Amino acid sequence: MLSKIEQWIDETNRHYESHRISCDKFINEFDGFYTKSFLENAFFVVVNTIPKPDFPGLREMGLGDLIDMHVDGITYKNTYYILPHVVNNLRIHFHELVHVAQWEFLGASNFIERYIREINHHSYEHAPLEEMAYGLDAHYSNGAEKIDIQNYVSEKI
Ligand SMILES: [Zn+2]
Repeated sequence: MLSKIEQWIDETNRHYESHRISCDKFINEFDGFYTKSFLENAFFVVVNTIPKPDFPGLREMGLGDLIDMHVDGITYKNTYYILPHVVNNLRIHFHELVHVAQWEFLGASNFIERYIREINHHSYEHAPLEEMAYGLDAHYSNGAEKIDIQNYVSEKI
């Protein structure tokens, strides 16, 4: 099942590849938090409907709530998808980029496995991978000191 999810993610990212925008446009805004090379290898796509996998078996794995939940953004590997109304919301971009760093550090199959386990054990709001992302986007939007997010992720995850 994990490899099926990853396969769906790769297909989705390929499908939207020509529409993706490089996050290097945030080099100034996120200076001190995300490096230039990290941002050059991260992308976002503005979509009217957030793409989510919904094939048989996912709901049995306890992912029904996540599939049905309304979200403004979602991250698959180095690409995140956001709705048009949040396209200028830097905090959302910051949040999804934390997930890009998590995907990168854990690797795809570990990220998927862990994320599903956390959602099932803690619910979405209290999943540690989400709490980390929400904590860091709040830190950023409060104008607090700059921290290297990739470093932070590698130490705290
Ligand atoms: Zn999140």
